[in-house]
Amino acid sequence: MIPGVRLVLLGRQGAGKGTQCVRLARHFVVPHLSTGDMLRSAVSEGTDFGRKAKEYMDSGDLLPDDVMVGMVAERLGRDDSSRRGFILDGFPRTVGQAEALAEITVEKPLDAVIDLEVPEDVVIQRISKRRVCKDCGTNYSVDTPPRYDWTCDNCGGEVVQRDDDTEEAIRHRLDLYREHTEPLIAWYEHRLLLVAVDGLGHPDEVTRRLIRAVDGRTRPVVG
Ligand SMILES: [Zn+2]
Repeated sequence: MIPGVRLVLLGRQGAGKGTQCVRLARHFVVPHLSTGDMLRSAVSEGTDFGRKAKEYMDSGDLLPDDVMVGMVAERLGRDDSSRRGFILDGFPRTVGQAEALAEITVEKPLDAVIDLEVPEDVVIQRISKRRVCKDCGTNYSVDTPPRYDWTCDNCGGEVVQRDDDTEEAIRHRLDLYREHTEPLIAWYEHRLLLVAVDGLGHPDEVTRRLIRAVDGRTRPVVG
């Protein structure tokens, strides 16, 4: 049986992180914990927390650290992730959050922090080509549109460009990423947890690279 794993995946939006997290979660049989998904479900449930979260998300800004830390600590304390591990996606985003995560995981520390590297210009191109079904959320792109006139193949819904997928909005998110996450990458590098993985190429090849990188951390070669 494949051992569990405790991982953080870092990478710019549009680096293919979501897809790869799902694949790694399946491979290592651990939950994929996307803070984006957690926030979106809080928003759609319309809780007080969800409404506050929505204001930040609409403005494209990051939520305060204590809010994010509380949400993640609660989730990591549940049975599945405390037993086999987890793949964290979207957290930490700042050094402050990384310090809090180190405290939360002090008894069972992270195995690795993976930086999925894709250059900014590639990311901007990918995201500005992205289109999404308004009803079911299926992703398309200008290069792989639905079969008929921007009508979803799955559900017949309208396929549009998300408001925050314009080049201006993408650049704002990339600026935020650079400002907050690059110090974070240095922080993990200093603690010998960081593993950089090339995110360019076919998704299957990227998955193989990621699994190799994780195996190299969790099962060091003896001899
Ligand atoms: Zn649809």
